[in-house]
Amino acid sequence: MRFADAARPELADPSSRRTRRQAATRARARQAEATAGLPDWERLREAGAAIRDRTLRDLGAHLEALEASVTEEGGRVHWARDAAEARRIISRLLPGDTEAGLVRSDVTDEIGLEGGNAGPHTRAAVVGARFLVAETGTLVVTDPGESLTFPGTVVVVAGIEDTVPTWSDLEVLLQLLPRSEAGRRMHPAVSTRTGDLQLVLLDNGRTRALADETGRAALRCIHCSACRDVCPVYERTGARPYGPGRAGPIGAVLTPQLGGVEASLGASLPFASTLCGACADVCPVKIDIPGLLVHLRGEVVESRRRRPVPTPELLLMRGLAWSMGDERRYEQTLVRRARWAGLLARDGRIRRLPGLLGKWTDARDLPVPPRQSFRAWWRRRP
Ligand code: SF4
Repeated sequence: MRFADAARPELADPSSRRTRRQAATRARARQAEATAGLPDWERLREAGAAIRDRTLRDLGAHLEALEASVTEEGGRVHWARDAAEARRIISRLLPGDTEAGLVRSDVTDEIGLEGGNAGPHTRAAVVGARFLVAETGTLVVTDPGESLTFPGTVVVVAGIEDTVPTWSDLEVLLQLLPRSEAGRRMHPAVSTRTGDLQLVLLDNGRTRALADETGRAALRCIHCSACRDVCPVYERTGARPYGPGRAGPIGAVLTPQLGGVEASLGASLPFASTLCGACADVCPVKIDIPGLLVHLRGEVVESRRRRPVPTPELLLMRGLAWSMGDERRYEQTLVRRARWAGLLARDGRIRRLPGLLGKWTDARDLPVPPRQSFRAWWRRRP
């Protein structure tokens, strides 16, 4: 379903919008306070962006290092091409009626896992990783109260980009994340576990996203949600219309990147933005989300051009290009437009345009264009 259609019921619910606005206002104030007192916040953001870029540029080597470390510590790495394969691997590792708790993350949501909280008495756990340190094969989670001291099997689920090469890289990211995520100077708890991990590494479109030199910057994301808290579109629609993947501005980038721009949700998400730039201003790893959205809009248009049957929008644009490509044709179009506008107008305004153009008048009236064009007036002036 297109984003705009999925958002319609949410737009008609002012009370959840009010709740979201209040929560976002509080979160923004906390984030601003946590970063204002830090004189080198900008340098820290630059360092974070550089670490993530360097990691993504050489991700293959870091993943090999991670696999070697996990194996050396007695664990095993399982590679999942997509969400269905990840779920199959997990059910093979935790067969039958194994009672397993879940430490959720964006990636466990992405593959559709649901379940109860993991605790010290849980026999097995599926843990959504926050980061994985390649040099030692260590799992890192940052949720308060999530201890990783389960006695049984630990199945870890992570996106391939959640890898961090070294502990000193992690140190920088762990200064950025709590400030952007919760307006805190540090996480109340950071739990780690090395050894005996069954690590499921998920691709699910990431390799394709990495191949796009511009688009790959989105994979710098460290899942802090700060961009959601400042987004005027998210404030009005909430998470649901963004579909099963990530919500908010980074979701509008990642869902089409990972799933492609051919399906209706992936094709509409890059347009679910005012391009106001607030998301880029707060992002702790300096992702230029508006720039990526514009880049994806170009991909959507390209993919429509490749369709055997052109869309009505494309036909309309081709018609406009044809009429504007020649001076005489353009002037005739203006004369015809003035005639049609006169037929459709009531009290000097057009309230409903026909066909595809009707989308414009769904939300606003159109002033009637003057009978005489500027060019005609210019020629006839004394
Ligand atoms: S894109 Fe940036 S601000 Fe948004 S969740 Fe990711 S790291 Fe946070």
